[in-house]
Amino acid sequence: MNNSKIWLSSPHMGGNEQQFVNEAFETNWVAPLGPNVTGFETDLEAFLGSDSQIAALSSGTAAIHLGLILLDVQAGDEVICQSFTFSASANPILYQGATPIFVDSEEETWNMCPIALEEAIINRIEKGKKPKVIIAVHLYGMPFKVKEIRAVANKYQIPILEDSAEALGSTYHGQKCGTFGDIGILSFNGNKIITTSGGGALVTKSKEVKNKTVFLATQARDNAPHYQHSHIGYNYRLSNISAGIGRGQMQVLEKHIGLRRSMHQFYHDYFETIQGVTVLKESNENIYSNHWLSCIVIDANVLGKTTEDLRLALEAENIESRPLWKPMHLQPIFLIYPYYGKSVSENLFANGLCLPSGSNLSENERNRILNVFNRFF
Ligand SMILES: *Cc1c(COP(=O)(O)O)cnc(C)c1O
Repeated sequence: MNNSKIWLSSPHMGGNEQQFVNEAFETNWVAPLGPNVTGFETDLEAFLGSDSQIAALSSGTAAIHLGLILLDVQAGDEVICQSFTFSASANPILYQGATPIFVDSEEETWNMCPIALEEAIINRIEKGKKPKVIIAVHLYGMPFKVKEIRAVANKYQIPILEDSAEALGSTYHGQKCGTFGDIGILSFNGNKIITTSGGGALVTKSKEVKNKTVFLATQARDNAPHYQHSHIGYNYRLSNISAGIGRGQMQVLEKHIGLRRSMHQFYHDYFETIQGVTVLKESNENIYSNHWLSCIVIDANVLGKTTEDLRLALEAENIESRPLWKPMHLQPIFLIYPYYGKSVSENLFANGLCLPSGSNLSENERNRILNVFNRFF
């Protein structure tokens, strides 16, 4: 029996990516600018709608970094960040010499809890400093509570940096994730729903902000015949080769979202009858997740076995699964920073697991997963 590795989420090419890459070679646009970069931006703008302006960048992390700069985060400022996330959401706060303030999640979407958010803001203001930015994340593709988080942000007049790295194609009340923040970001890393091998984007509604993003991402060159600089610049623009992959991927994005959602349905159906296992799912019909990763939480008291038992059972069959993100406030590098909330994210980390979720999983691979489940549960 074929026992090749089943990945959590691996790149899935649509077929036309190489054609765009070949065009770049044939026209010698082998540089961090060119027709693929512009074309990819246009494709993303059309996909997101809501008058989006896109600046294609070298990574999602770079987009978060530039987003913080555009929102005027400076050394000594405080920035609120969802604790339950990937470290790339929080690292750029430190690049700016600012201080991360971590906030817990709520049970429904696993994303930032609006109550803990407001507690954090009130307490930081009492301590003398109003947070400069709120970084909220649509984790695993599941939209955060946009209305509630926005209400708190507006009440205290703090801008939102919307980390939509995992949520391209997810919608909240019909509007695409990535378009809710004062600034939004996307990622096209190898494991995301579409990939450019590595890449990201900044989303804004303002042409001026887009132009400023591109300016900062291309070494902040002033308008002069020589090299003249009056700002600190970055080398964060997306390569025209990578953007070619992105243009091919955009042609299959909708289809791949459908396939990820069908993987989620597969898990949803399987676990419906199993006591002690909960699948992360949309809470009502106004929420639409791309289901980038399908995730479960195991109640070991009910099931009599732990998440780690399942992970090892899958690993024994060469099937990758992974614990949910370890909250930032528990990470050695971030232990010294303030944290607001209870233990929602800690419990998710202790009992949760991401399951193979790729849009490219075959019937045979699903059956291998099913076989492990049937023996385990
Ligand atoms: C992947 C990811 C990022 C970073 O994107 P890169 O393109 O890998 O730099 C940021 N935030 C979250 C939540 C992510 O999953």
